[in-house]
Order: sequence, then structure tokens, then C-alpha cells
Amino acid sequence: MVNTTIAGKETPATKTPVCGASESQFQICNPGCLTCKRLSSVFVFGAASSQVASSSHVANSIDQSPPPRKLHRDMFEIGKRLGEGKFGRVYLAKHRESGYICALKVLTKSEIEFEGAETHVRREIEIHTHLRHPGILGFYGWFHDSRHIYLILEYAAGGELYKVLKRVGYFSERRAAKYITQITMSLLYLHGKNIMHRDMKPENILIGLRGELKLADFGYSVHAPGNRRTTFCGTLDYLPPEMVRHEESYTMAVDQWTLGVLAYEFLVGKPPFDDDVDMTYTRIIERDMKPLPYYISAEAHDFVESVRIPPSRPYLHFAQSYT
Ligand code: AMP
Repeated sequence: MVNTTIAGKETPATKTPVCGASESQFQICNPGCLTCKRLSSVFVFGAASSQVASSSHVANSIDQSPPPRKLHRDMFEIGKRLGEGKFGRVYLAKHRESGYICALKVLTKSEIEFEGAETHVRREIEIHTHLRHPGILGFYGWFHDSRHIYLILEYAAGGELYKVLKRVGYFSERRAAKYITQITMSLLYLHGKNIMHRDMKPENILIGLRGELKLADFGYSVHAPGNRRTTFCGTLDYLPPEMVRHEESYTMAVDQWTLGVLAYEFLVGKPPFDDDVDMTYTRIIERDMKPLPYYISAEAHDFVESVRIPPSRPYLHFAQSYT
């Protein structure tokens, strides 16, 4: 599997607030989100020291709370390491005062600087701060010290979807359809806020307490009100032809293509253009998807085929009609 993450030069993300979450959204969520709701009155969302994010939801909750205190590492009891990313480690953590369990992503500033990834990290924080949806990993706040940046995240108890898929080989059609529907809902939310994710892959999807999927990692996401971008970024196996060809600008439909790639991967266990690097490029450009195995139903086949030819049919309709 070709799994190289590619980033191009990008203009900085707009700082326009994109949060429109209402309180009621949290009442229908899982316990993680209830935690999020309560944590919002404990933590300073999107704050480095005394600055406060401008989302209406957060602003409302802060209005009714005592002035937020500056966050720092000693406020957390650090537990086991949950995983390791490109610029740091993720730990299970407990907020000492409230007792809430979360995941603390600890990024090392020197590593970010060495990789020239400041824009990537800033983008991740700017965009993730403003997202509130049950299908998106909760972002509770952030802070930094001289060496590290700390992101306070919802703890996804089920771990990475990628590892589960590797363990079981592939998913049943029913399970794949359930997952695709959940990802579709998250995408609709993102796209409704003019945000393209641009790096959806099983490694960037986590599993919550009740087995529900949580879209994560917004480092390559962009707020694009004009719905047109030109940057070449993401992970090769999941890139659409319009991006690989470098010829034209692209739209939100890039995520829709990836939804089709994910549907294929869930059903088969490998992405559809999986080959050596050159051949993967060629296959994507020619839309030369490897055939689905004979045991895959006509409906699943139709879904994968249809969703990868955007934007002829709306993906929500497909995801719903298939489940
Ligand atoms: P990342 O740096 O975001 O790629 O995360 C590295 C790894 O840590 C992931 O592959 C997951 O296995 C784990 N991880 C990251 N965030 C969480 C979370 N919120 N809950 C549980 N595990 C996580």
C-alpha cells in the first residue's frame, strides 16, 4: 500500500469562525461528548494563555462560567501512551480537577520546526477548534510551553480504524455501510462549513466508546468558502484524479472520491489503486480501480462506482439508501 502523505504549499487558512454547534447537539451524543460539554466550562477552548476562541458555543459557555484559568501540563495526570504521530505522542490523560478522561496529544515544537510543518499544525488547531459533531473527534482545548504544544482531545477508546481493519482483514457489507454512513454524516457537517478534509484514510479515523467512528486529523483540512483549491496534498492511495493530474483546481468532491476509496477498502481490505507508486498514479488518473471480488453485492458495487464519479449523484442519498 502506498501511504505517503503529500503536502503542497498552501495559503494560510482563514480564521473565520466556522462553529455553529448548538447545545442540543451534545444531548444526543455519546458520553464522550457529554464530557466535552462539561469540559468546555473547565477548559479554555483554543487558548494558549488568555485568548479565547470566538465560536458562539464556546463564548456562550464561557459567559456563564468563572473566568478560565491558564492551562498547563500539571493540570493533567498522564497515563499510558496511546500512540505516536509524526510530531509527537498521544497519551491517555486525566484532568486532575474534574477527573475527566481525555487524550493529550503532545507535539514537540522542535520537530514541527525541523519539518517546516508550522502551517500544518496551525491548520489542525484552527479548524479542529471550531468543530463539534458526534462523528468528529472532540477537541477540548490546547496550550503550549517552551518545548511542546498540547492538544486536549476526546479519548477514542476503540483506537484506530486502520488497526481494526488490518486485524479483521475486511468488513462485512453491513458493517462497511454503517461506517460509510457515519463518515458521510461527518463529511456533510464539514462540507456544510466549507471545510474540505483532504486526508481521509483509515489511519485518520478513530473509534469511540460505542464503536462509532470519529473523523480526526485536520492537518490537511482547509476552510474554502470558494470551494476551489489547487494544493496537492493528502495520501496518494486516496487522492482523486483531478488532484493527481495537477491540472485543475478541485472542490469538496475530493472527499467524496475518498469516500468511494474507503468503501472499497472496507469491503476488500486494501485500497482500489494499491500498486507501486508510479502505477498507483497511473491507475488513479485512469480511474483504473481493481475489480471488486465476485462475492461483493451489486448494490455495494454500484455504491463504490457511483461515489467515485463526483458529483453526479449526491452521496448522502447513496449512503442512506444503502443502509
Ligand atoms: P496522531 O498523532 O494523531 O496520528 O496519533 C497517533 C496515534 O495515537 C493514532 O494512530 C492513535 O492510535 C492514537 N490516538 C491519537 N489520538 C487519539 C485519541 N483521541 N484517542 C485514542 N487514541 C488516539
